[in-house]
Amino acid sequence: MAQASSQLSALELPSVSWRRRHLLGLEELSAEEIRTVLEVASRFAQVPATAPLPELLQGKTVVNLFFEDSTRTRTSFALAVRRLGGEVIDFQASASSLSKGETILDTARTIEAMGVDAVVIRHRTPGAPHLLAQNLQASVINAGDGPHEHPTQALLDMLTILQHRGSLEGLTVALVGDIAHSRTARSNIWGLTRLGAHVILCGPATLVSRRWEALGVEVSYSLDDILPRCDVLNLLRIQFERQQSRPFPSVREYAHLYAMNRQRLEQAKPNVLIMAPGPINRGVEITADVADGSHSVILKQVTNGVAVRMAVLWLCLCVAQQDGQP
Ligand code: ASP
Repeated sequence: MAQASSQLSALELPSVSWRRRHLLGLEELSAEEIRTVLEVASRFAQVPATAPLPELLQGKTVVNLFFEDSTRTRTSFALAVRRLGGEVIDFQASASSLSKGETILDTARTIEAMGVDAVVIRHRTPGAPHLLAQNLQASVINAGDGPHEHPTQALLDMLTILQHRGSLEGLTVALVGDIAHSRTARSNIWGLTRLGAHVILCGPATLVSRRWEALGVEVSYSLDDILPRCDVLNLLRIQFERQQSRPFPSVREYAHLYAMNRQRLEQAKPNVLIMAPGPINRGVEITADVADGSHSVILKQVTNGVAVRMAVLWLCLCVAQQDGQP
């Protein structure tokens, strides 16, 4: 196993073991591996955004291969690479040969042939990152594959909770909204349950199935019922772009039953954390006053996204490579 004591004495990165070149999902990570990423990320998060960092990714080139829209994820991967001294290339799917019929695998192989070390991919097809990982020499990082997984989102959500609560063990975390189509929900379920949190999935019956209980989570259809028990509320966006049919009569009705608003906040624990992966739709899953209020850690999540992505890139591109893993 790689023992990377790191060149970062100023940063005090821990000595870690890490064998994976790819990060495809949290389902496949052990509790120990998740703790390792969070531990490294928490060290990066302690460094002010303007302070210099050692060039851990010097000589490494990372391609952002995004086939779906993104604001936070794409930008924070790019910032993470640059802050650690690497090169990042932003691939424009709409301006590429994909529009001429090239497959995603041929596109990725073509990019790899130019000498890239990692591909960060977002694609609407579940399993697209796995396909690349099986066929490329480069590291593959999943930045969201359809409704399947979004591992770095869940890691940054967990890091944010840890910073405020110290531990995930025994906390009650509700994921509220469009569970059926949310990759954020899936990755959070794997990560949170593995680290000992109690997860409640809450939303309309058309978007949350009782079948999820098989994963060791609780399912509820009433936000008002579960509210007083929750330490954390993670408010998920309704993923209209993934839905074939309308899952509830109107957005207004959804907001009436599931939006986090000031009245509901009064029924919650005094120190409840309000989270959202973004983009947020003000007035749908969360009202503006709650999104901008004192319980909200939504922008802290965004800040932590850079630290988590630095940790993942360093572990997969540097630590795992030292260990000579395939
Ligand atoms: N940004 C997150 C994602 O890409 C959540 C969302 O889009 O609602 O899955």
